[in-house]
Amino acid sequence: MTNGSKPRSGRVEINRIVDVLLPARTRPAFGGALALIAPVALLTVLAATLFGASEQRIAMVFLINLIAVVANGLYSGNSGIMSFGHVGFMGVGAYLSSILTMTPEKKAMTLPNLPDFLAAAHMGLNEACLVTIVVVGLFALVVGAPISRLTGSAASIATLAFLVIVHSILIGSKDFTRGSQTFFGVERLISFPTLLLWVGVAILVARLFREMPVGLELRSAREDELAAGAMGVNIFQRRLAAWVVSAMLMAVAGALLAHFLGAFSPKKFFFVDTFAILAMLIIGGIASVTGAVAGTALVTVVMELARRLEEGPILPALGLPQVFGLTQLALGLGILAVMYSRPGGIFGLAEIDHWLFGRRNDDASNSEATAAPFQPESVAPASGRELQAVDIAKNFAGLRALDGVSLTLRPGEIVGLIGPNGSGKTTMLNAISGAVPPNGGRVMIDGTDVAGQPAYRIARAGVARSFQNIRLFKDMTVLENIEVAVSASGRGGDLRAEALAALAELDVAHLAQRRAGALAYGEQRRVEIARALAMKPRYLMLDEPAAGMNSAETQALMGLLRRMRDRHGLGLLLVEHHLELVMQLCDRIVVLNKGQMIASGTPDEVRRDPVVIEAYIGRSHEKTHHPDATTTERRGS
Ligand code: ADP
Ligand code: MG
Repeated sequence: MTNGSKPRSGRVEINRIVDVLLPARTRPAFGGALALIAPVALLTVLAATLFGASEQRIAMVFLINLIAVVANGLYSGNSGIMSFGHVGFMGVGAYLSSILTMTPEKKAMTLPNLPDFLAAAHMGLNEACLVTIVVVGLFALVVGAPISRLTGSAASIATLAFLVIVHSILIGSKDFTRGSQTFFGVERLISFPTLLLWVGVAILVARLFREMPVGLELRSAREDELAAGAMGVNIFQRRLAAWVVSAMLMAVAGALLAHFLGAFSPKKFFFVDTFAILAMLIIGGIASVTGAVAGTALVTVVMELARRLEEGPILPALGLPQVFGLTQLALGLGILAVMYSRPGGIFGLAEIDHWLFGRRNDDASNSEATAAPFQPESVAPASGRELQAVDIAKNFAGLRALDGVSLTLRPGEIVGLIGPNGSGKTTMLNAISGAVPPNGGRVMIDGTDVAGQPAYRIARAGVARSFQNIRLFKDMTVLENIEVAVSASGRGGDLRAEALAALAELDVAHLAQRRAGALAYGEQRRVEIARALAMKPRYLMLDEPAAGMNSAETQALMGLLRRMRDRHGLGLLLVEHHLELVMQLCDRIVVLNKGQMIASGTPDEVRRDPVVIEAYIGRSHEKTHHPDATTTERRGS
């Protein structure tokens, strides 16, 4: 509540509540969700009042599919892991909700071996949906735990295995499901208002999830897992959250489908429907809710036309034989065509609110003007605090990339880590930041050993980094890139205001709404540093931040780094292979060669060290072979 308007006090309270429930940065998404729900609602009203019975059935299937596609997209789109397993949750939801809504008398006939509490249960459809959501949510939590530890296609295959397992369980649990026989006697409790209610819930949840910190962080991991971890994102937890929420919505879709069909068997919840739902998602665009809604609508229309073509008199009238499986064929061709022309689906990453309200442009420029100055976590370096890497060793298949390297970084100082290409500088940063676990040694952050811990924990303990080969989240905006870092640090506060302040600190606030991957090289470097700074680290490690910059850009960057150190009392570890550049800026310098520390000291000491001259500068400036060279290289081997 820092905006200038002075509403009456009752309004203040209401505004405060709205701010908490729906922070400014998620408001366009809320509008976007409503913009998607509105046409669906209109269609529903038309269907309920004007459509004939067979069109009404199509509309109902469309609404149920919509929930399923949006739910699957919530997981697959945000995590980047295509799930083949979600229809399994539909199956569980269908059977469970049906058992809950059937009358005890009916159950006594068709399912005589049900446990008492299920045999006696008898509730309405919406209540059954709520119970089903809770039960399936818990089920998803258990099975999601191992799946969420996997990445990429390994995770996708695991979801496929999950589908097969659920299918087998449904067939095997004869007392509950009648096995592979048809489960019948479910009351057709479905109605348009119920469908619309749950469609609205699904779209709203999915659209807001994407913008909430959990969705934002998950999307960053989809773009670049390594960088997300280095920002402090607990990828496992975020994936699991998406898995559970999407499973709950999927279960609702299953419950509604059951009460639409009245009778079904486990094969309804297997490959054919998985394929249809994924086709809708992929064609519309897996990464956006808008894509999910549009894909469902488009595919429903095309499949309905194909089905009529298949069954109707059109083909024979044209002298063509009936083509069986035309709907499946249409789906397959549709996927091929879309993948060929637009690999991200028709809507790609775009959401309808990006068009309706612009990509948060006005909003950002307003807050830019009022952005509070970036507040460092701790300006005064507390005594006893330091980042200490002791005896770090790292082997890569026989290669000793690091052989007992130690260094210390205190808040407020700039330490240079230099050495020729391949000397182990990046590996040292990787070992400290947890990107690559070291084989030996300790990494002490303010007295606590974090060696070998996951990167996100080390990040949250106060160590930030940039990457030699820039690892921005390319398909997210610059602002979102920074918001991820603020969010993942877990300290709360206004994501957007803090992100803008960090951007302003690096003089790149004007880039906030640009796609990160579209920036010029020097801009990307600055944004990456801003992203690391937004974590409010105590220690910041930059891997060749000036690489690829011209000398003017480099000088400007060096000035910025100095300013950052002075303002925030950061400990800055600067990897560079330009010796002169490091000499200007650093309080101390550590020199690596072939995985070993060959010198350390003040810039002057290092500059005069003959071993350094030989191993490092000597190669370019002195053509003659130095007598000490061989002993230096062999040291420690
Ligand atoms: P620098 O950053 O000083 O140029 P690096 O730390 O990138 O050097 O590399 C040090 C050595 O370790 C090099 O010989 C490099 O080939 C090797 N190395 C680095 N990362 C890996 C890896 N992931 N797998 C195998 N070898 C690696
Ligand atoms: Mg390197």
